Amino acid sequence: MIRLGLCFFFFVVFSCFAAEQTRLPLNDYFAETWNTRSGLPHNSINSVVQTNDGYVWIATWEGLARFNGREFKLFTRTEITGLPDSGLRSLAPQADGGLYIVGARGGISHLYQGQWHAKPNATAMVNHVLKTPSDETWLALEGQGVVYREFDSAPDTAILENLSAYRLIEDKAGIIWVATSNGLYQINNKTARLITPDSGLPQSPIYTLYLTRQGELIVGSEQGAWKQVNNRFISIHAQLKNEAISSILQDDHDDLWFGTINKGVFRLSPLGLEQLDADAGLPANRILSLLQDRENSIWVGTNGGLYRLREAAFSTWTTKRGLTGDYVRTVLSHSDGSLWVGSSLGLNRIEDNKVNTFPPAYGNDPLSVLSLAEDAQGQIWLGTYTSGLMRIINGKVYPVLDRQNGLASNEVRALLFDSAGRLWVGTAAGLTRIDVDGSLKQFSSTDGLPGDFIIALSEDNYGNVWIGTGVGVASFSPNLEKFTAKVFPAHFDAEYAFGFYAESEYIWMATDRGLVRCHIPTGEMSILGREQGLPVDKLFQVVAQGDSFWLSSNRGVIQVNQKQVKQRLAQLAQNNALPIQYQLYDEGDGMLSAQANGGSNPSAVLHKDGSIWIATAQGASTIVPERLKQATKKTLPTIIEAMYVDGKMTPLVQQDEEIILPLGVSRLSFHYAGLSFIMPHRLNYQTQLTGYNNVWVNRNQLTITEYTNLPPGKYTFKVRSGYPNGQWQNNDKTLTFVIQSYFWQKTTFKIMVFIGLLALVYGLYRYRLYHYKKIEIELIKRVEQQTNDLQQQTDAFAHQATHDQLTDLPNRRAFDCWLADNFADFKQHGSPLAIAIMDIDHFKRINDGWSHIVGDRVICVVAHMLGELNESDDSQVARWGGEEFTLLFPHKTAQQAAQLCEELRVQIANYDFSNIASGLSVTVSFGVADSLAVNDYDRLLAQADQALYQAKSNGRNRVEVITL
Ligand code: GH3
Ligand code: MG
Ligand code: MG
Repeated sequence: MIRLGLCFFFFVVFSCFAAEQTRLPLNDYFAETWNTRSGLPHNSINSVVQTNDGYVWIATWEGLARFNGREFKLFTRTEITGLPDSGLRSLAPQADGGLYIVGARGGISHLYQGQWHAKPNATAMVNHVLKTPSDETWLALEGQGVVYREFDSAPDTAILENLSAYRLIEDKAGIIWVATSNGLYQINNKTARLITPDSGLPQSPIYTLYLTRQGELIVGSEQGAWKQVNNRFISIHAQLKNEAISSILQDDHDDLWFGTINKGVFRLSPLGLEQLDADAGLPANRILSLLQDRENSIWVGTNGGLYRLREAAFSTWTTKRGLTGDYVRTVLSHSDGSLWVGSSLGLNRIEDNKVNTFPPAYGNDPLSVLSLAEDAQGQIWLGTYTSGLMRIINGKVYPVLDRQNGLASNEVRALLFDSAGRLWVGTAAGLTRIDVDGSLKQFSSTDGLPGDFIIALSEDNYGNVWIGTGVGVASFSPNLEKFTAKVFPAHFDAEYAFGFYAESEYIWMATDRGLVRCHIPTGEMSILGREQGLPVDKLFQVVAQGDSFWLSSNRGVIQVNQKQVKQRLAQLAQNNALPIQYQLYDEGDGMLSAQANGGSNPSAVLHKDGSIWIATAQGASTIVPERLKQATKKTLPTIIEAMYVDGKMTPLVQQDEEIILPLGVSRLSFHYAGLSFIMPHRLNYQTQLTGYNNVWVNRNQLTITEYTNLPPGKYTFKVRSGYPNGQWQNNDKTLTFVIQSYFWQKTTFKIMVFIGLLALVYGLYRYRLYHYKKIEIELIKRVEQQTNDLQQQTDAFAHQATHDQLTDLPNRRAFDCWLADNFADFKQHGSPLAIAIMDIDHFKRINDGWSHIVGDRVICVVAHMLGELNESDDSQVARWGGEEFTLLFPHKTAQQAAQLCEELRVQIANYDFSNIASGLSVTVSFGVADSLAVNDYDRLLAQADQALYQAKSNGRNRVEVITL
């Protein structure tokens, strides 16, 4: 365990060391060019710098361009207010993140925190600006020497005159050095001194100056580059002495780069002095500026455009780097750490960045290598296109076996030394096995192979040999000594198996329909192909490295995550597989051709140092995944570049401020960029809008996010970027904004409306309540009224039933009832009850003599007088019928009653009826009886009636009491 740990430690240290030491030959960098066609304002790149925020800035004669890796944003005289001319000479980035821009007509502008500040113009074109720690501004002027200002608005003080100053630099001792048309000047305490030729410098114009990390001053002159050593100047490289040096750069390897006036770029490194010029791809040989950015890419500003060299993900070995042929068919990682490359023109070995070639021992025909294998002794065996099996002995390639002495075919596409030491030779016409004793065995379709065109051979962890052909695969079991065809399920639609990768109990196969995995014990297969999201059908080789599978194809190298592949294969069974995520590397990533070759083996390998090698149609391409990972760990700034509100650009504010947006805003879009210049198109973005959805949303490669119809409120837009397969960095940028609301969108208004609504609802409720109450009261009233009316009616009916209509006295029925009800009581108590019947005398005469109406009135008057008796006494009076009345006298004897009747008789007889009719007089007669001598009321009535009869008979107008 400890040993393993140590090995790992050494491996890590070794790879770091190796990565540190990697220095590509100048010609092998991946190069790109930008010019006016790509969006630059002018092809003369006077200056190229990178500011702290990560942007790359380019100064040209037609203005300034800001580059985010994808596009240039232009700033001209219109955008940079106060700049007298768009012609820019140089840029000076400051430690505080600011940027000085200087140029034609004495223009000086300062960009600080997104704002442009115009400075007072100088009297001539400014070639360079230097801000000292004491905040002095020093200006190098065209034709007018050097001036300085103590502070921004202070007058210019001339230090040097009548010459052109090109560049200013302050060394660690505070001495300012000036490159001028007249030579090198040193300014100490505002006093200038010309550095004379006796210091070692040539007598020539000085164009540029550079201070190395080590504090050395490097001088670029019309006659070469010079380095200050102990107050003297020595030539940096003899070969440069004839070159006019216009710009200098020290890179991260401490190598020096020199831009020249007409010879392109030179690099001085342990590899020697190398030159890169227009013939090798530079847009022009006149170099104006140099920059190494934070991702270590080298930017070269020429007068024909901007050129960038970068260490791409892939680097490619071709004939330019010493290979015998560019059409590479096979690569082999040797146990000794070397890497072997077989191409259509020969065999090479790469070790320590050096290439060896292995020529054929006989003849001059080039070797067309198809396959390679290493035996147990580390010897290399070759399969060729036309010469059968060969091997290397003493650095030369010797034939071993061909069709003439027992090989199935001369076209050998795959070789395998199995664990038993046997050599399997796969040819275009069958399989040959060379056993340890040298004997040969031939196998073909008749022995159980699916086909005779053998492309791939591999041994799994069970000792089975897998054979890939153009029509499927078979495995050879050493125990059974026989082949078993492994048929792809029909729906895979796969035929070719181009390559194998054995992993524990599985064998992975690169096929013409995707990546197939076979579980060896059960033979169960599953496929990950185009349907599952892979970008191509045809895969040539599977290389497992780190947590990835690297798959070679005709369109480049596909990187997928192993864990995700296995997850997807498991999900396939459950029919819920998501598309696989992948990275496709191609020409843009440093491959010279994305077309990987795969008809023979091995066509891609994992090398001992952790790199992956791929045989392509344009060389052997290699990638160091570890270096790729390192790149993703580099700080990656993210920038919010613009915010558009309803299509109009809105000025951005500092991160701690907020933007107030007007009423009724409907569409917001944010433009942002991750400032990586190596793989800008591979960057992934996530955005979040707090106040709306507080989660990171994947935007993939999209650099614009739009929101529509956001409700009023306060929001913070956040964006962050990351490299694929890398962690998200804590590089999110935020922008806070407030969308104002119409008064009806305001919460207070909403609350008021709510309260108003509540009040309205309550009012309505109260009104309904009142209404119902009113109705109820009315109903009650009406019911009362109607009950009353009914009662009255009932009472009236009852009255009518018991009273006489004309006189309103109780009628005969009432009288009879009363008498019937009470007679027995009086009898029982022995109390007397007297009764009188009264009859108007000669009433017919009244009717006849006057009229019935007068008769009726008389009846009424008489009834009224009788009624008064009713009220004064507890007597009862009733109209008996016609002009007859009955009178009841409770508790009175007939004599007592007769007395009362007599009073009545007199009263009536004396009453003046003349107001009814003149000459009318009325008398009445009474018959009285009492209950004392009778036993029923009928008898009582009869006696009274009898008494009345007597009264009539005795002359009328009198009272008669029945006497017994
Ligand atoms: P007397 O009783 O004194 O013997 O004579 P009389 O004329 O009153 O006779 P009688 O009692 O037989 O007649 C009563 C008359 O009264 C008969 C009828 O025409 C008249 N009469 C009965 N009821 C009414 C009534 O309500 N109005 C009027 N105007 N006349 C009535
Ligand atoms: Mg009568
Ligand atoms: Mg009468």
